[in-house]
Parts: sequence; structure tokens; C-alpha cells
Amino acid sequence: MSIFYHSTRSRADLVTSKKAIAQGIAPDGGLYITDSVAEKSLDLAAVCNMDFAGVARLVLHSLFDDFSASEISDCVEAAYGSSFTSPLVCPVSPLGGTDWLLELYHGPTCAFKDVALQMLPQLMVRAAAANSAEDADQANAGANRGPQNIMIVTATSGDTGKAALAGFAGVPNVGITVFYPEGGVSDIQRLQMVTQLGSNVEVCAVQGNFDDVQTQVKRIFGNTTMAERLRTQNVVLSSANSINIGRLVPQIVYYFSTYAQLVKNGTIQVGDPIEFCVPTGNFGDVLAGYFAKLMGLPVKRFVVASNQNNVLTEFLNTGTYNRLRPFHKTISPSMDILVSSNLERLLYLKSGGDTELISYLMHQLATRGSYTISAELLASIKQDFACGCANDVETRQTISETWSEKHVLIDTHTAVALAVEKRRASEGTPRVILSTANPYKFSADVLSALGQDVCGMDGFACMDALQELTGVPAPEQLSQLRSASELHRGVCTVDGMSDVVEAACSRCFA
Ligand SMILES: *Cc1c(COP(=O)(O)O)cnc(C)c1O
Repeated sequence: MSIFYHSTRSRADLVTSKKAIAQGIAPDGGLYITDSVAEKSLDLAAVCNMDFAGVARLVLHSLFDDFSASEISDCVEAAYGSSFTSPLVCPVSPLGGTDWLLELYHGPTCAFKDVALQMLPQLMVRAAAANSAEDADQANAGANRGPQNIMIVTATSGDTGKAALAGFAGVPNVGITVFYPEGGVSDIQRLQMVTQLGSNVEVCAVQGNFDDVQTQVKRIFGNTTMAERLRTQNVVLSSANSINIGRLVPQIVYYFSTYAQLVKNGTIQVGDPIEFCVPTGNFGDVLAGYFAKLMGLPVKRFVVASNQNNVLTEFLNTGTYNRLRPFHKTISPSMDILVSSNLERLLYLKSGGDTELISYLMHQLATRGSYTISAELLASIKQDFACGCANDVETRQTISETWSEKHVLIDTHTAVALAVEKRRASEGTPRVILSTANPYKFSADVLSALGQDVCGMDGFACMDALQELTGVPAPEQLSQLRSASELHRGVCTVDGMSDVVEAACSRCFA
């Protein structure tokens, strides 16, 4: 075993990847990171001859080397063996000229979060099994309490909840409870969640807004008396948050597999540089791309695309990150974020692993709402990252132009990235735009961008109209919701959320 993880804010505590995955966030509030990424250079020519599963096994085994080869193979098979509707898992398609679309939305919930959330549960059960065996050794108890049970608790504003449910449903020794704000998610998103099958899942609407729900989930994680009560039942609470290193690493895979596809179709030769443009919220997706670059992928630059919540555009232009700004609700809701948590990992890597600096900056962000980095650090970041933002008007226009000029239908998040990339002059380097959701997930906004009146139409009516207008078939994962039964009808108050979690634990792990 050679790879260890530690907090971005301190090197005092070194842990294995299994421990980092099981814990999620480091005890000091930092994010788990390893100093060994750049030593894990992959053989690019070999990668270009692999399929998605092969690349996945190689990447995961390089960074999670306390998992055995057979554990990794089992994880990859369970995550990607049959749950994606494309045989390539994440196929690349031409957009004309030097531009390509990386389609990340062929998973069970039609959004890119599936790529990570189909894998995380597989990693987590194996990590938990290792950690409970270790605890038993340490206590020298001898008594076998059986594997530790994990209850995942998630607050969602729409997309993450369903992707987490789909990933964790049916996974042994794990349960999942998802809370969403009543009336605060779209028709389709609500139906996706309340129709989820599985004896280990709980979905509950909460009388409150997303902030109320998220704040209460954080309180539940901090509730020590509840944690103690659950421990006697051999249950720990955990999160499926995008800061978990077990969500980040699986996303490295599609950067390499994209490159392999472009080599196979003759667009590039092994060693040629390419560019990626990434619609960004929490900075997880684009950071995974930077990990791929550190592992030897020839990437000329990453373009960080934001919507009107353009905190990252400002940061990359000025070196000041300021979260104290108006929050805009946009038509690309999964990018409506003011604190991009994963940026902390980039600052760590680009500062040469300066944990003291990271602690200081994150303290500034928490207490003052902003921080400023040195001109030197900013210059180093700008060597790899360009940026841009697009508002809702430009986003709609890009959806409409892409449809009328290229006959390619894209969703609102993808359109933000394409709008930003189209403003940049092509330098002849192949440019890959990450397409993060199926357009039918956001049918109403896509339909209205194409000039149709959606007034008074529900989610299915919009899906039908979009299908009729474009002839592009709606994915079965969404159209089949029409006939699925609503299984989860529970509604609770904010204060009632912890009771829902405890009841779910008793039910799942009885
Ligand atoms: C989550 C999400 C994003 C943003 O990804 P980050 O990793 O948070 O930057 C973009 N598009 C869609 C559709 C998403 O669900």
C-alpha cells in the first residue's frame, strides 16, 4: 500500500482511501487529498486501447490502492456493467468543426452525477467493511458484531437526491434517506424520487425551503446523542456529498475515455493536446479533469463555465473569492452555487500543498465571506484554467441555435458551457464540451428556449411537446415515470426530520 490521504488543512493524520471514503470529510473540516496523484501517471497509449470499464479499473486502482484488484473489478461491474444505456457509458459525439460533446447523461437518472453516484456506494460498502474489521481488531473484542450499517442522509434541491437513491438502492448494509423541500423541486424530479424502489430507501418532503432542509441535515450529523443511540444499533450516519473523494475519482475516468475515443475515431493522435469546457457548480467535475491532467492526460486548458452565479469567473479573473453576493435562481439550477467546495482541493494542489495557507483562506471564507490569493498562485491556476459565464438569455439562445444550426438538442447546463466556449476563438485544438444532463430533464426550459409557450403545462406535457417538436426521443428512464407508482408520500416538519432518519434506520437494519 503506498497511497495515503490527509486533510487539505493538515498533514497530521494520514489515512487509507477506505478510511477517507468512509469518513467523507476530514475531522478538521478539510477535504481529503493525496500528494501522490502526479506519481500515478498512466500509460496513455495503453489507455487508448481500453474500454470504459478498463480505464475505470486502472484509474481507481491507481488512486485507491488499498482496494484489491478483485474488489475494484466488482465495483466497476456493479456500477457500469448494466446501468448505463450507452455501451460506451460516456460517449463522445461531434458538434461540428473542432467541437465535441461528452454525453455524461446515459445513467439511470439522466444526469452526470450518476457516473460518480453509481460507484460511490460500491466503494463505501467495501470501505465500511474494512473499517469495522479494523475497529474490532483494535477493541480486541473478539465478538463479531457483523458489518457496520451506514445510513446515508441527503438534502436535495432536485438532481443529487435521485442519483444518490439510484446508486444506494439495494446495496447491502446501507440505507438512504433523502429530504427535499415540499414544492421546491420540479414535477419530474419529485416523481423520480417518490417512485424509487428498494427496501433500504426513504424519501420525505419537508415543510421548508432547501436551506432549511440542508441546515437541518447538518444538525443531524452534529447530533451526538443521536449518534450514540445509533451506534448501539451498529449504525453510523454518512453523506453522499460531492466532497467525498469516492465521488471525485470516478469522474477522472471519463476524461481519459474521451481522449481514447478521439484517438480511436482519428481526430487526434496519442500525445496531442485537447481542451475541455465544463459547466461548473461545486468545482468537482472540472477538478477531476485536472487530476486527469496530473496523471498524464495532455490537456491544454480547462474552461470553467458558470451561469449568472459567476463567483468562479470573478475569482479566476481577480484572485478574490467572494461569496457575499446575491443568489440567482437560474434555468441551470445544479450550478446555482455560491461556495464551490472542491476549489479547496485545487488551491491545495496549486499552492504546493500549503496546508497552513488553505486553513487560513478557508477561515477567511467562513468568517468574512471572502479571501484573496497571491498573484503568483493565481498565475499558476490560470496556466490550466480559463473561465467565462453566461446568463439565462444567452443560455436559451444557445439551445435554440444549437438545435436550428446543428440539430443537436442540449440541456440548460450544457448550454451554459457551450455559450462560453462559442465566444472563444478556436485555436484548432479539439474542444470537448461536457454535456451534464439529458435535455428532457429540463423539458420546460428547453421547450421555451425553442420558442414554445409552456404556460400551464406540466412536466409530461412538456416532454411530449418537446418530443413532437424535435423528434428526439425522450429517455425511457423519464418517460416510464408516467406509469410508476408513488411509493413515498411522507411529509415532515424540519424538526421532525431526525425522527424520520431514526425510523428509517430501524426499518432498514431490523
Ligand atoms: C451537479 C451538476 C453540475 C455541476 O457539477 P459540479 O461538479 O458541481 O461542478 C452541472 N450540471 C449538472 C446537470 C449537474 O447535475
